[in-house]
Amino acid sequence: MDCDDSSHAFPYFPDGNVVLAAENADHKLRHFRVHRSILALHSPVFADIFTMPVQPEAEQYDGVPLVRLSDQSEDVSEFLKSFYGPCTLLPRHRDPNTPLIVRGVLELATKYQVDVLRTHIVQRIEEDWPQSLAEWEAAETEFHRIFNEFMATGPDDPEGAWLEEMFPEPASAIRLARDYDIPNILPAAFYAMSRLSPEEDWDASRAVDRDRLLIVGERSARWSLLHNQDLLALIRGNKLIGSAVARMHTRIFETVDEADCHGGPLCIAARKRFCGLFESAGHQDPLYELRGFYSGEQFGLRDVCESCRSQLLSEAQVRKQAIWDLLPDYFGLLDD
Ligand SMILES: [Zn+2]
Repeated sequence: MDCDDSSHAFPYFPDGNVVLAAENADHKLRHFRVHRSILALHSPVFADIFTMPVQPEAEQYDGVPLVRLSDQSEDVSEFLKSFYGPCTLLPRHRDPNTPLIVRGVLELATKYQVDVLRTHIVQRIEEDWPQSLAEWEAAETEFHRIFNEFMATGPDDPEGAWLEEMFPEPASAIRLARDYDIPNILPAAFYAMSRLSPEEDWDASRAVDRDRLLIVGERSARWSLLHNQDLLALIRGNKLIGSAVARMHTRIFETVDEADCHGGPLCIAARKRFCGLFESAGHQDPLYELRGFYSGEQFGLRDVCESCRSQLLSEAQVRKQAIWDLLPDYFGLLDD
């Protein structure tokens, strides 16, 4: 095959002893000149390919054997670069576009069994998604902290960085996790999805009302990326959480030991009012409700006595943990 410099893509080392060819998004062929020993070191699949004897009639390019790949050249470039230096592919932590950015390279790392690269990408995705209730609450606190800061001072950037763009987006994460087996992020990502309605769509909301998400701190997701089975899992999970939470929130009085109450009728009335408000809430985000209501952030536990308050707070913690622990159940993640 004739050598055409303009088709050379990075990495293209003059002393390389194999050329890989792959098409770019415009179906133009791009060439990479690399080293068989480096490829074989990272990938058992390439190691196998190179143990096969080179046939005399085998295709050559620029004086060395040519191997044609069916993968996209943009991904191949990032993939090969990772063999020669630190991986520069990964965006900042919690970037909502990470699943879209890493997808192609993760595909190659999986296909060519480059375990180190795959593990590196998977760990990074996992870092973006809470793996425990404490991590979930820390991320939520961070979201509200930034939101409150914005409400007080306005955005630093006059163009307005969207609040939700500082946090990972759940639908693309679920899709990546399903396609490339990253189960650890699914409970948190499904729960994050369960708080949204399909009207809260990432692309549609950007096309219509640019400022709304920033101003009200609204969040959205790339709904169309979800597989049908995951939409079903989400609907099912929402129903199960709804009924579990309704069960959990009734008889809240029974968790308080009246013998320890030293607030008298005032405390009883305050608890009754408070629990009524709680039971009538929508339960769209019970982890938030349990935190906000019981800690008195929203409706206040002012008139509830010390003893009842501390009993309610520890009960809230138990209930939040129960919801968190059952997320894999609610969303059917245990059958996979
Ligand atoms: Zn009391």
